[in-house]
Amino acid sequence: MARGGGSGFGLQDLSRIARAQGSYLYDETGKAYLDGSGGPAVFCIGHANAEVNAAICRQLDSIAYAYRYLFTSSALESLTEIVHRISGHCFKDILYCADGSEAVESALKVALQYHAARGLMTKRRFIARQRSWHGNTLGALSVSGFAARRRAFEGSLLDVAFVSPANAYRMPEGCTADTLVSHLAAELEQTILTLGPDNVAAFVFEPIVGAAGGVVPAPPGYAAAVQAVCAKHDVLLIADEVMCGAGRSGTWCALEHDGVVPDLMSVAKGLAGGYIPLGATLVSAKVAAPIVSEHGAYMTGHTFSGHTAACAAGLAVQTIIERDGLVERARSKGAAFQQALRGSLSKFDEVGDVRGRGFFIGVELVTDRATRAPFAPDRGLSFDIGQRAFADGLICYPCSGNVDGAAGDTVILAPPYNASDAELEEIDVKLSRAVGAALASK
Ligand code: PMP
Repeated sequence: MARGGGSGFGLQDLSRIARAQGSYLYDETGKAYLDGSGGPAVFCIGHANAEVNAAICRQLDSIAYAYRYLFTSSALESLTEIVHRISGHCFKDILYCADGSEAVESALKVALQYHAARGLMTKRRFIARQRSWHGNTLGALSVSGFAARRRAFEGSLLDVAFVSPANAYRMPEGCTADTLVSHLAAELEQTILTLGPDNVAAFVFEPIVGAAGGVVPAPPGYAAAVQAVCAKHDVLLIADEVMCGAGRSGTWCALEHDGVVPDLMSVAKGLAGGYIPLGATLVSAKVAAPIVSEHGAYMTGHTFSGHTAACAAGLAVQTIIERDGLVERARSKGAAFQQALRGSLSKFDEVGDVRGRGFFIGVELVTDRATRAPFAPDRGLSFDIGQRAFADGLICYPCSGNVDGAAGDTVILAPPYNASDAELEEIDVKLSRAVGAALASK
């Protein structure tokens, strides 16, 4: 199988997929795989949903796509309406695109355009965090603190300043739980001051770190603290919710949990739940105003922005999520699921942390619970767990490098929001089995 968590690696010797239904995929040999991680946190209402497929077919039967810059469509307008409602009417405009990288790239560009529209052409620099992942395009990769995925492109990336991750399990030297947030806010402020506030466009962060950290929710108070620092220095706050958003973490916007509304927000994976590629950048009224008045329009967009059939898929997925109360379900079932996992994995001394929110859960493996020391990277523990789980018919999402870019083993679970209790139980059992077998093979 693929080593998971990578982009373009290990595409040899893959099982050939045949079909899927609900939370299960089936390969051509008939083997079933329970989708415990939604691939990489994508499939939020499961696979082959009849309502979604029918909505896409209806759209295709009338028109697949009318160019966004010539026509609007009822699919796009209805999706926009539901996203505004489900995200709490916090944003003014929604710019559609095809995936998460484009959504982040658009957020970066809209931030630059915002400052340009205000005549502030020196505000060009971005600040981001180490151990973060924002995507594969050059701009999104530039703001990503993910050494292995940057290495081949160093020298051509934007000059981005990086600050520490907000990780309560792995705090910066000298920090305690009580001082962590103020330490991180002070570090961000110092970085802005060092670059010069007149030169900084935006700070970009994942409210819950995904692939680069193995699900790391920021500590309470962090989002509000960095928002205050940014506001003080006229720096925009960009929340990348491509992985943690669209309901996955138990609120539609992950930051709702923190009581913070960012200036710009990217979403993708769960927006159309994997049925058709779809992403979006949500723009606040504050950011929209000077752009609209000075430039008339957003200077970002692609041929397939607002693709009609993709919007129809997003509309059907979000309609089901709203109608069936699936965000609330992810919140309540997720808490119980996390508790159950913590119980069953507690028998392994090497399971150092089980964390997350809603149906976005990370398991971190360590050699020693007290010191939290990671396994040697060449042991490939998380991928070993992923491979054993896959062989046993469970898809999970192994990630590495969360400690220092090379060492660190985590496994992400991100089941569909409508996964049944029996399916959650099966994930729990099979993950424990895979962890036990991988640890025993030392
Ligand atoms: N941001 C985050 C937080 C992500 O997790 C990802 C993908 N894993 C991206 C951006 C990029 O999205 P995509 O792979 O759809 O381009």
